[in-house]
Amino acid sequence: MDAPEAPRDAAGDDLDEADRLEVERGLRFTHIMMTMNKSQGNEAIASIQALAALLVRKGMIDPDEFGEELAVARDAIGRVVQPTVRLAAMGDKYAEGESVDIDCASRIPLCGARCCSFAFFLTEQDVAEGVARWDYGNPYWIKRADDGFCVHCEPETRACGIHASRPHVCRKYDCRNDPRVWIDFEARIPAPMPPPGRTMPIAMAEVDASADSIARGERERASGHQQAP
Ligand code: SF4
Ligand code: SF4
Repeated sequence: MDAPEAPRDAAGDDLDEADRLEVERGLRFTHIMMTMNKSQGNEAIASIQALAALLVRKGMIDPDEFGEELAVARDAIGRVVQPTVRLAAMGDKYAEGESVDIDCASRIPLCGARCCSFAFFLTEQDVAEGVARWDYGNPYWIKRADDGFCVHCEPETRACGIHASRPHVCRKYDCRNDPRVWIDFEARIPAPMPPPGRTMPIAMAEVDASADSIARGERERASGHQQAP
Protein backbone atom coordinates (compact mmCIF):
# COMPACT_ATOMS: atom_id res chain seq x y z
CA MET A 1 0.00 0.00 0.00
CA ASP A 2 1.33 3.41 -0.92
CA ALA A 3 2.35 5.80 1.84
CA PRO A 4 -0.25 8.50 2.45
CA GLU A 5 0.43 11.62 0.50
CA ALA A 6 1.84 14.50 2.54
CA PRO A 7 -0.68 17.28 3.02
CA ARG A 8 -0.38 20.13 0.55
CA ASP A 9 -1.23 23.68 1.39
CA ALA A 10 -2.79 26.30 -0.84
CA ALA A 11 0.62 27.12 -2.28
CA GLY A 12 1.12 23.50 -3.35
CA ASP A 13 3.94 22.78 -0.90
CA ASP A 14 4.48 19.20 0.25
CA LEU A 15 5.65 19.99 3.78
CA ASP A 16 3.35 19.39 6.72
CA GLU A 17 2.97 22.18 9.25
CA ALA A 18 5.63 20.93 11.68
CA ASP A 19 8.16 20.49 8.87
CA ARG A 20 7.33 23.87 7.47
CA LEU A 21 7.92 25.58 10.81
CA GLU A 22 11.17 23.66 11.26
CA VAL A 23 12.40 24.74 7.85
CA GLU A 24 11.35 28.32 8.54
CA ARG A 25 13.23 28.33 11.84
CA GLY A 26 16.34 26.92 10.19
CA LEU A 27 16.25 29.38 7.35
CA ARG A 28 15.61 32.24 9.69
CA PHE A 29 18.66 31.32 11.75
CA THR A 30 20.74 31.12 8.57
CA HIS A 31 19.54 34.51 7.43
CA ILE A 32 20.26 36.08 10.80
CA MET A 33 23.79 34.67 10.67
CA MET A 34 24.20 35.97 7.13
CA THR A 35 23.11 39.41 8.22
CA MET A 36 25.57 39.34 11.14
CA ASN A 37 28.37 38.28 8.79
CA LYS A 38 27.49 41.10 6.46
CA SER A 39 27.52 43.58 9.29
CA GLN A 40 30.95 42.39 10.43
CA GLY A 41 32.18 42.49 6.83
CA ASN A 42 31.03 46.09 6.53
CA GLU A 43 32.94 46.92 9.69
CA ALA A 44 36.10 45.36 8.24
CA ILE A 45 35.64 47.32 5.00
CA ALA A 46 35.16 50.53 6.95
CA SER A 47 38.40 49.89 8.83
CA ILE A 48 40.31 49.34 5.60
CA GLN A 49 38.83 52.48 4.12
CA ALA A 50 39.76 54.46 7.19
CA LEU A 51 43.30 53.13 6.93
CA ALA A 52 43.49 54.06 3.26
CA ALA A 53 42.15 57.53 4.03
CA LEU A 54 44.83 57.98 6.68
CA LEU A 55 47.57 56.91 4.27
CA VAL A 56 46.29 59.37 1.67
CA ARG A 57 46.12 62.19 4.18
CA LYS A 58 49.68 61.53 5.33
CA GLY A 59 50.88 61.51 1.73
CA MET A 60 51.91 57.88 1.84
CA ILE A 61 49.75 56.89 -1.13
CA ASP A 62 48.59 58.93 -4.12
CA PRO A 63 44.78 59.56 -4.02
CA ASP A 64 44.42 59.19 -7.80
CA GLU A 65 46.30 55.93 -7.84
CA PHE A 66 44.19 54.80 -4.92
CA GLY A 67 41.02 55.79 -6.85
CA GLU A 68 42.14 53.76 -9.87
CA GLU A 69 42.86 50.71 -7.75
CA LEU A 70 39.55 51.16 -5.98
CA ALA A 71 37.66 51.28 -9.29
CA VAL A 72 39.28 48.02 -10.39
CA ALA A 73 38.51 46.35 -7.06
CA ARG A 74 34.94 47.64 -7.06
CA ASP A 75 34.35 46.38 -10.57
CA ALA A 76 35.56 42.92 -9.54
CA ILE A 77 33.37 42.87 -6.44
CA GLY A 78 30.36 44.23 -8.35
CA ARG A 79 30.42 41.21 -10.61
CA VAL A 80 29.90 38.84 -7.69
CA VAL A 81 26.23 38.09 -7.11
CA GLN A 82 25.33 38.07 -3.43
CA PRO A 83 22.01 37.49 -1.71
CA THR A 84 20.49 40.14 0.50
CA VAL A 85 18.01 39.39 3.25
CA ARG A 86 15.28 41.99 3.53
CA LEU A 87 13.35 42.43 6.75
CA ALA A 88 11.23 45.54 7.24
CA ALA A 89 11.78 47.54 10.42
CA MET A 90 8.37 48.70 11.63
CA GLY A 91 6.60 48.82 14.95
CA ASP A 92 3.89 46.63 16.41
CA LYS A 93 1.29 46.20 13.70
CA TYR A 94 -1.45 45.44 16.22
CA ALA A 95 -0.71 48.53 18.30
CA GLU A 96 -0.46 50.97 15.42
CA GLY A 97 -3.80 50.27 13.74
CA GLU A 98 -4.72 50.97 10.15
CA SER A 99 -3.31 53.88 8.20
CA VAL A 100 -6.49 54.59 6.30
CA ASP A 101 -9.99 53.12 6.05
CA ILE A 102 -10.68 52.15 2.43
CA ASP A 103 -13.86 50.41 1.24
CA CYS A 104 -11.92 47.53 -0.31
CA ALA A 105 -14.89 45.14 -0.55
CA SER A 106 -16.78 47.46 -2.90
CA ARG A 107 -13.66 48.42 -4.85
CA ILE A 108 -12.10 45.02 -5.50
CA PRO A 109 -14.28 44.46 -8.60
CA LEU A 110 -12.66 47.65 -9.93
CA CYS A 111 -9.10 47.47 -8.66
CA GLY A 112 -8.78 43.68 -8.79
CA ALA A 113 -6.96 43.85 -5.42
CA ARG A 114 -3.97 45.22 -7.27
CA CYS A 115 -2.20 45.92 -3.99
CA CYS A 116 -2.00 42.18 -3.34
CA SER A 117 0.14 41.71 -6.45
CA PHE A 118 2.87 44.05 -5.25
CA ALA A 119 6.18 42.75 -3.93
CA PHE A 120 7.07 43.65 -0.37
CA PHE A 121 8.98 42.16 2.51
CA LEU A 122 7.79 41.25 5.96
CA THR A 123 8.68 42.58 9.37
CA GLU A 124 10.30 40.49 12.08
CA GLN A 125 6.93 40.43 13.82
CA ASP A 126 5.25 39.08 10.66
CA VAL A 127 7.89 36.36 10.28
CA ALA A 128 7.81 35.40 13.96
CA GLU A 129 4.04 34.90 13.81
CA GLY A 130 4.47 32.24 11.15
CA VAL A 131 1.18 33.16 9.44
CA ALA A 132 2.19 35.21 6.42
CA ARG A 133 4.19 33.06 4.01
CA TRP A 134 7.49 34.30 2.72
CA ASP A 135 9.50 33.24 -0.30
CA TYR A 136 12.37 30.95 0.71
CA GLY A 137 14.26 32.03 -2.40
CA ASN A 138 13.87 35.71 -1.53
CA PRO A 139 13.80 36.07 2.25
CA TYR A 140 11.64 37.71 3.62
CA TRP A 141 9.58 38.85 0.66
CA ILE A 142 5.93 37.88 0.66
CA LYS A 143 5.35 34.58 -1.11
CA ARG A 144 3.53 35.00 -4.39
CA ALA A 145 1.71 32.52 -6.59
CA ASP A 146 2.35 32.07 -10.29
CA ASP A 147 -0.38 34.57 -11.12
CA GLY A 148 1.68 37.24 -9.38
CA PHE A 149 -0.68 37.64 -6.43
CA CYS A 150 0.18 37.04 -2.80
CA VAL A 151 -0.49 33.39 -1.90
CA HIS A 152 -2.95 34.59 0.75
CA CYS A 153 -5.09 36.42 -1.80
CA GLU A 154 -8.12 34.21 -2.53
CA PRO A 155 -8.20 33.64 -6.32
CA GLU A 156 -12.00 33.72 -6.55
CA THR A 157 -12.82 36.71 -4.40
CA ARG A 158 -9.40 38.41 -4.07
CA ALA A 159 -10.10 38.64 -0.34
CA CYS A 160 -7.21 38.29 2.10
CA GLY A 161 -7.08 34.80 3.62
CA ILE A 162 -5.12 36.00 6.66
CA HIS A 163 -6.85 39.32 7.20
CA ALA A 164 -6.56 39.34 11.01
CA SER A 165 -2.81 38.62 10.86
CA ARG A 166 -1.96 40.27 7.57
CA PRO A 167 1.50 41.83 7.33
CA HIS A 168 2.31 45.24 8.66
CA VAL A 169 2.72 46.82 5.24
CA CYS A 170 -0.73 45.58 4.17
CA ARG A 171 -2.22 47.55 7.08
CA LYS A 172 -0.26 50.68 6.26
CA TYR A 173 -0.57 50.72 2.49
CA ASP A 174 -2.72 53.53 1.07
CA CYS A 175 -3.71 53.05 -2.56
CA ARG A 176 -5.59 56.33 -3.00
CA ASN A 177 -2.78 58.19 -4.71
CA ASP A 178 -1.01 55.20 -6.20
CA PRO A 179 -1.07 55.54 -10.02
CA ARG A 180 -0.46 51.80 -10.34
CA VAL A 181 -3.94 51.30 -8.91
CA TRP A 182 -6.10 54.33 -9.61
CA ILE A 183 -6.40 56.90 -12.36
CA ASP A 184 -8.91 58.62 -10.07
CA PHE A 185 -9.66 57.13 -6.67
CA GLU A 186 -12.64 59.38 -5.89
CA ALA A 187 -14.21 58.82 -9.33
CA ARG A 188 -13.46 55.07 -8.93
CA ILE A 189 -11.50 54.86 -12.18
CA PRO A 190 -8.88 52.10 -11.92
CA ALA A 191 -5.56 52.13 -13.73
CA PRO A 192 -5.21 49.58 -16.55
CA MET A 193 -4.42 46.12 -15.15
CA PRO A 194 -0.91 44.97 -16.11
CA PRO A 195 -0.48 41.55 -17.75
CA PRO A 196 -0.75 38.63 -15.30
CA GLY A 197 2.39 37.04 -13.92
CA ARG A 198 4.85 37.85 -11.24
CA THR A 199 7.98 39.88 -11.33
CA MET A 200 9.93 38.45 -8.45
CA PRO A 201 12.30 40.65 -6.54
CA ILE A 202 15.80 39.31 -6.98
CA ALA A 203 17.76 38.76 -3.79
CA MET A 204 20.85 40.58 -4.98
CA ALA A 205 23.37 42.62 -3.09
CA GLU A 206 22.76 46.33 -3.24
CA VAL A 207 25.62 48.51 -4.37
CA ASP A 208 27.23 50.11 -1.36
CA ALA A 209 28.28 53.62 -2.36
CA SER A 210 30.13 54.24 0.86
CA ALA A 211 33.47 53.13 -0.56
CA ASP A 212 33.11 55.54 -3.43
CA SER A 213 31.96 58.44 -1.30
CA ILE A 214 34.75 57.97 1.22
CA ALA A 215 37.42 57.75 -1.46
CA ARG A 216 35.97 60.77 -3.26
CA GLY A 217 35.80 62.71 -0.02
CA GLU A 218 39.43 61.95 0.67
CA ARG A 219 40.48 63.07 -2.81
CA GLU A 220 38.53 66.28 -2.40
CA ARG A 221 39.94 66.89 1.04
CA ALA A 222 43.47 66.28 -0.27
CA SER A 223 42.86 68.76 -3.10
CA GLY A 224 41.25 71.29 -0.78
CA HIS A 225 37.93 71.08 -2.62
CA GLN A 226 34.96 69.51 -0.86
CA GLN A 227 31.38 69.37 -2.09
CA ALA A 228 28.35 69.77 0.11
CA PRO A 229 26.74 66.42 0.91
S1 SF4 B 1 -5.93 48.35 -4.25
FE1 SF4 B 1 -6.87 49.68 -2.67
S2 SF4 B 1 -9.07 49.37 -2.84
FE2 SF4 B 1 -8.08 47.70 -3.93
S3 SF4 B 1 -7.96 46.07 -2.40
FE3 SF4 B 1 -6.01 47.18 -2.33
S4 SF4 B 1 -6.26 48.74 -0.72
FE4 SF4 B 1 -8.32 47.97 -1.27
S1 SF4 C 1 -1.40 39.32 3.11
FE1 SF4 C 1 -3.49 39.72 2.52
S2 SF4 C 1 -3.63 41.96 2.26
FE2 SF4 C 1 -1.45 41.39 2.29
S3 SF4 C 1 -0.88 41.13 0.12
FE3 SF4 C 1 -1.48 39.12 0.91
S4 SF4 C 1 -3.66 38.91 0.45
FE4 SF4 C 1 -3.12 41.07 0.25
